[in-house]
Amino acid sequence: MKFATRLLHNGNEICPRTGAASIPMYLASTYHQFDLDQPGRYDYARSGNPTREALEKTIAALEGGSHGFAFSSGMSAVSTVLLLFSNGDHLVASQDLYGGTYRVMAEVLPRLGITVDFVDTTDLNRVEAAIRPNTKGIYIETPSNPTLKVTDIAGTAEIARRHGALLIVDNTFLSPVYQNPLLLGADIVIHSATKFIGGHSDVVAGLVAVKDPTLAERIGFLQNAIGAVLGVQDAWLVLRGIKTLKTRMDTATRSAETIAQALANHPEVHRVYYTGLPSHPGHRLQCQQSSGHGAVLSFDVGSGERAREVLSRVRLPIVAVSLGAVESILSYPAKMSHAAMPQHVRERHGITDGLLRLSVGLEDVEDLLNDLEQALSVRSVSVASNR
Ligand SMILES: *Cc1c(COP(=O)(O)O)cnc(C)c1O
Repeated sequence: MKFATRLLHNGNEICPRTGAASIPMYLASTYHQFDLDQPGRYDYARSGNPTREALEKTIAALEGGSHGFAFSSGMSAVSTVLLLFSNGDHLVASQDLYGGTYRVMAEVLPRLGITVDFVDTTDLNRVEAAIRPNTKGIYIETPSNPTLKVTDIAGTAEIARRHGALLIVDNTFLSPVYQNPLLLGADIVIHSATKFIGGHSDVVAGLVAVKDPTLAERIGFLQNAIGAVLGVQDAWLVLRGIKTLKTRMDTATRSAETIAQALANHPEVHRVYYTGLPSHPGHRLQCQQSSGHGAVLSFDVGSGERAREVLSRVRLPIVAVSLGAVESILSYPAKMSHAAMPQHVRERHGITDGLLRLSVGLEDVEDLLNDLEQALSVRSVSVASNR
């Protein structure tokens, strides 16, 4: 069956007990045991819950995995997965990681004796060169945030396999609609379901899917041991968001393509980062390993002053962190997601004071174009005439 159908019919959408067409929220924290010698399927809700389980099976099915896990946030999913590693282990990670992931790797893991090298993973030679005898994992995000650098998933998986390391892919930006890292050889796929999968700016959640049952057992153990599980009502919201995931992604992506082209031809825009533009260095690789370019793009308006003007003038996108929602979201990486990064490091990564990131939502694309056009227009003339 095709993906759009599997979103709605994957075996986890109907309550097996009642036939309810929406999986009920089982709010119980504990479960009566009818027979001490034959324990029931559920005993305590941290260890298992029917609503969360429906979501976990759904993400596994959508990513082509055998097992799924739902966590209380994208970061708790990331952190729990990283605790697969032990004192003395070494990881290789993408340079342009989500800020929260970078923070855990740079400030928490070293305390546990786990070291991380951050490299430009768009160059597989650099990934290979960073491997050490104790490298146990490679962690990538593709496309990356906010300049959408593309890393070759299958190529990285081959390096990981050759060195006995696990390949972990953060697939938040494309969702399972456009990219399935497990099918390209990755071992673990992670999502911040707060973004496209939830899709409505009303839930914080994380999801993990894996192929290998032994690896699934280790992650299941950590999920229960650490306990950062997704709450039942949030699991229900994510299940509901998933039903419209493809429709939302396809509409927003079509609009993002139109907007990226318009911005690329706009005199006030110095540079546009979108993998759907043939001029993007990762365009061809993205076309090979993914079936879409997604709804996030970044553009540089030349200076911090211009960026602030645009941010203060836009009327439709909310000005905020986060992405992947029904409403468009305009972010200012230099002051938001990458504020902690020293300016010279930021600029080296293309995260200049003039860079804006737009997560395109479901508004009419003409309205979005008109709004961006008025926000970008230079108003010095009208200011002068007002005096
Ligand atoms: C938001 C985000 C995360 C973290 O997820 P939370 O749900 O905010 O904890 C991880 N990776 C990427 C790419 C993200 O955009």
